[in-house]
Amino acid sequence: MAQLLDGKAVSKVLKEEIREEIAQWKEKGVQPKLAVILVGDDPASVVYARSKQKVCEGIGMAFELFTMPGSTPEADVLAQIESLNNDQAVHGIMIELPLPKGISKEKVMSAVRPDKDVDGVHPINRGYILSGEEGLFPATPQSCIELLLRCGVQIAGKHVVIVGRGETVGKPLVFLILKHNATVTICHSKTPDLGAFTRQADILIAAVGRAKLIKKDMVKAGAIVVDAGINETPEGICGDVDFQAVQEVAELISPVPGGVGSLTTALIMRNVLKGIVLQGGTR
Ligand code: NAP
Repeated sequence: MAQLLDGKAVSKVLKEEIREEIAQWKEKGVQPKLAVILVGDDPASVVYARSKQKVCEGIGMAFELFTMPGSTPEADVLAQIESLNNDQAVHGIMIELPLPKGISKEKVMSAVRPDKDVDGVHPINRGYILSGEEGLFPATPQSCIELLLRCGVQIAGKHVVIVGRGETVGKPLVFLILKHNATVTICHSKTPDLGAFTRQADILIAAVGRAKLIKKDMVKAGAIVVDAGINETPEGICGDVDFQAVQEVAELISPVPGGVGSLTTALIMRNVLKGIVLQGGTR
C-alpha cells in the first residue's frame, strides 16, 4: 500500500520557512505585501481571495484586496494594475480569475509587471521558464516539484510522465521538471493508448481535470503518483487519479484534497518574496 505524499505537512513546513523570511525582511525595513484584484463577484474567487488573506495574516505578510464591480471597464482594471505596478510598498500582484466578459485576460495578465507577477502568467515569465532564467513561475507546477523533493523523492534521472499540457499546470511543469534533470514524456487528449505511456513512468503526474482518469492498470508497480487534478463530483472533490485503486500499486501517492493543492497558496507567498529580490531588494 502506497505511502502518502502529504501536502498538508509540507505546506506547514513551507509556511514556517516563509514566516521566518518575512521576519528577516521586516528587520531590514521591508514589509512584504501582496495585492489581489477581484473583479466581479464570482463566489469561488471571493473564497480564494479570502483564503489568501488568511494565510497572509498567519505568516506576517501584508495583504490588500481591491474589489471592483463586474461592470468595471477594462481600462479601469488596467489603471488599477498600473497603480500597483508603481507602488513600491506592493511586491506581488494577483488577479483572481475568471474575469467578467468584456475584459481581456491576456491584456490584464500582460499588464502586471513581470517582477510582481506572482501567478507567473506574464509572457516574459513564461519565456523565462523556457530559457531557464530566474523569474516568477506558476504555483501549481512548483507545488508538484516541491511535494516530491520535500518527501525525499529524487527527480534526477527518473522518467517523469506528465498527463496534460494545459497552460496552468502541464506545460510549465515540463520545463520546470526538466531543470531537475528528469527525462520527460508529455501526454494529452490526442495521445493514443494513454496507458502505454503512463505505465512507463517512474513518476506519474496527472494534470488533466478528468475525475479518476488514471486507473490502477495504467500505473507501474512502485511508481510515484502526483495528482494535480481537482474535480467536483457528486461524491465530492477528487483528483485525476483513481486514488483507492492506484494506492494499491504505487509506492507514493498524493491525495486530493491534501496533496498538491495544499501547497499552492504558500508557493504564491514564496513568489512574493522572490519578487522582492527581483525588484532589487537585497537579502
Ligand atoms: P487544462 O488547461 O484544461 O488542460 C487539461 C489538459 O488535459 C489538456 O492538455 C488536455 O489535452 C488534457 N486532457 C484532457 N482530457 C484528456 C484525456 N482524456 N487524456 C489525456 N489528456 C487529457 O487544465 P489545467 O488548467 O492545466 O488544469 C489541469 C488540472 O489541474 C485541473 O483538474 C485543474 O482543476 C487542476 N488545477 C489544480 C490546481 C491546484 O492548486 N492543485 C491549480 C490549477 C489547476 P489537450 O491539450 O489535447 O486538450
